[in-house]
Amino acid sequence: DAKRVGRGVTRLFDETMDEGIRFRRRVEQGLARAVERDELRLVYQPIVARGELEVVGFEALVRWDSAVYGRISPAVFIPIAEESNVIHTIGDWILAEALAMVARLPQQYVSINFSPRQFRRHNFVAHVMESAQRAGVAPGRVQIEITETAIFDDAERAAETLFRLRQMGFRIALDDFGTGYSSLYNIRKFALDSLKIDRSFIDGMGRERESAAIVHSIIHLGRALGLEVVAEGVETVAQVQALRLAGTSHLQGFFFSQPVDGDVAVMLAERRVLAGGAAV
Ligand code: C2E
Ligand code: MG
Ligand code: MG
Ligand code: MG
Repeated sequence: DAKRVGRGVTRLFDETMDEGIRFRRRVEQGLARAVERDELRLVYQPIVARGELEVVGFEALVRWDSAVYGRISPAVFIPIAEESNVIHTIGDWILAEALAMVARLPQQYVSINFSPRQFRRHNFVAHVMESAQRAGVAPGRVQIEITETAIFDDAERAAETLFRLRQMGFRIALDDFGTGYSSLYNIRKFALDSLKIDRSFIDGMGRERESAAIVHSIIHLGRALGLEVVAEGVETVAQVQALRLAGTSHLQGFFFSQPVDGDVAVMLAERRVLAGGAAV
């Protein structure tokens, strides 16, 4: 009867929940040991300026080859790490590793993703500054990439943190722009260098008028405010052409380069421009 079916569904739901919680707990425990087990590495995706496709920077993206899970996406494990202090364990490793990369590059910046919990950590500014000093890296070669979620909760405090970082010379980028809340408020109030248009809008550009309109407005807004505007997730020549017409200043995506190992990144950086720049 209905009652029994209902109970069955409830039990199934509980078991699924348990499975999810167990998975998250195991991932969290695995991550806590990932640094000492040498399971993490960074890859670097070029950010290029339109025109001759000069490589101006690289975004550092973490990879985890877990002994237990094999390759697992940061889109899965970062949100889990973010639920506890494990994010600080891996975040500190990521920061140190990315700073060491800056020292290997001729002139480009390295853009480092920070999760909201890291950004809100007590002494975040001092921590980043001391890490850069220890690595002998000029703040101007380091970009701090945060999402709107990081600044949404306590906008006053976030504004203060960004202001201090920028005063020390760090670059600031707002990641996945357009997907968060209070976008316009944020960019008026916050010390920024770069807006990264979320890939979902770039992806939608060719199909929906709405996405194209949003991309155009972000580009205009960014330009009016003197910001670098980076189109994320560029995959096709049609997107490149549409973005050129829209007037974006910077591009990033598989069309130009996948994220690559540090050695390859150094090679790309030394060549300075990506091949085929004249077409874009
Ligand atoms: P994100 O910061 O927005 O990074 C961009 C993501 O888009 C990366 O995925 C990148 O590999 C992918 N991507 C780049 N170009 C293209 C393209 O043309 N097409 C498609 N389909 N995808 C493209 P990834 O490396 O899997 O990272 C996913 C997310 O995980 C990142 O999004 C970021 O939120 C987080 N993440 C990655 N590395 C770190 C890290 O070191 N620290 C923190 N806190 N979060 C990280
Ligand atoms: Mg990012
Ligand atoms: Mg992004
Ligand atoms: Mg994204």
